[in-house]
Amino acid sequence: MTTGKQYVDSVFEKVKAQNGHEAEFLQAVEEVFNSLIPVFDKYPKYIEENILERMVEPERIVSFRVPWVDDKGNVQVNRGFRVQFSSAIGPYKGGLRFHPSVNQSIIKFLGFEQIFKNSLTGQPIGGGKGGSNFDPKGKSDNEIMRFCQSFMTELSKHIGADTDVPAGDIGVGGREIGYLYGQYKRLRNEYTGVLTGKGLTYGGSLARTEATGYGAVYFAEQMLKARGENFEGKIALVSGSGNVAIYATEKLHALGAKVVAVSDSSGYVYDEDGIDVELLKDIKEVKRARIVEYANARPNAKFIPVGEGSIWDNKADLAFPCATQNEINEEQAKTLVANGVIAVSEGANMPSTLEAIDVFLNAGVSFGPAKAANAGGVAVSALEMAQNSQRTPWSFEEVDAKLYDIMKGIYENSAAAAKEFGQEGNLVLGANVAGFLKVAEAMSAQGVV
Ligand code: GLU
Repeated sequence: MTTGKQYVDSVFEKVKAQNGHEAEFLQAVEEVFNSLIPVFDKYPKYIEENILERMVEPERIVSFRVPWVDDKGNVQVNRGFRVQFSSAIGPYKGGLRFHPSVNQSIIKFLGFEQIFKNSLTGQPIGGGKGGSNFDPKGKSDNEIMRFCQSFMTELSKHIGADTDVPAGDIGVGGREIGYLYGQYKRLRNEYTGVLTGKGLTYGGSLARTEATGYGAVYFAEQMLKARGENFEGKIALVSGSGNVAIYATEKLHALGAKVVAVSDSSGYVYDEDGIDVELLKDIKEVKRARIVEYANARPNAKFIPVGEGSIWDNKADLAFPCATQNEINEEQAKTLVANGVIAVSEGANMPSTLEAIDVFLNAGVSFGPAKAANAGGVAVSALEMAQNSQRTPWSFEEVDAKLYDIMKGIYENSAAAAKEFGQEGNLVLGANVAGFLKVAEAMSAQGVV
């Protein structure tokens, strides 16, 4: 009889042989596969049905040309993607990322993670992801609009409110979703909830903007509670300064912690007085400026450019990586542990390398992996879909209360799965297993499709 380890190893060998050049995708797959070995020992039928090899192959990948004209009249070309990974438990769901680093490996790692994350939310949403190597930085509003219209002209052929519902991710916020939605509506002549993260005047949900950041803090609250702690008086580092970082900071302050540092791709700022969230919002959401502007506007804040230090060099009790993938390596994890960090809650997708995760787990740090800790964003996206289908908006309090319960539920299910499979406290294993089981059961019930 094939053991769980033999099965997982053999599928991983095939995945490596076929996707050897996709480093980020392989990293995301390896993390999940390592967790699933005991699951296959317990449920051999999933080996017989070859669930893993089916799950790791996207149902569909669309790659397309995005031509657009810049303000100088030059014709530009970017590459667009949509990976429709799994529709086992609901329509494909996941964000769009516009960033120069986007390639098929990045989109596949994000789409693969999304399957398990979306499953953990308890909402009926499958896994997908998309984006483009377009760089929104330095582009005018008109250039962004023309790009979004061109991108949607192709994407609209592949999505729909009951098929695939994209949203934002890095480089795609309210402005971009607006342009994308306008073009979809014009092409299809239908007013449906085909995108989430929409503006509040045209079908968006209250608390969607805040959801990922708030959710990562609600998740951390559960981890702290399990060790008899809370946020009162805790010092926190929050990397990034986008939507996730801003609202994680806001909620941390509301619950009694002090965030002393935030960052962007040019460097980080350290503010011993605590980050002024309103100032940060003005610089990042309104002016779309660089983080150095924050230090220029605050008496005790200093700016440390990239190359002269890392946000993770600083002493703190809590770390919230909310910027991007692989932003904490093994050395940085060791520094955080040496400086006394007790909890890490991942607001970004895959921000810790596999080696960094091992450092945290071995040191007894409470570690909230991305697919659990940052699931609040997509969870509220699912609530936005529900409101769109009902054609009834819910209040901020109602959505926020549901978000809180969802995050608490994800923590409890992940903790319970970790315990059941003999690794109490290992939320990486717990989240992977809990997310996997629902999708596997649905696939099993639906036959070989
Ligand atoms: N991009 C977010 C994520 O990584 C949100 C996706 C969504 O709302 O569909 O989960």
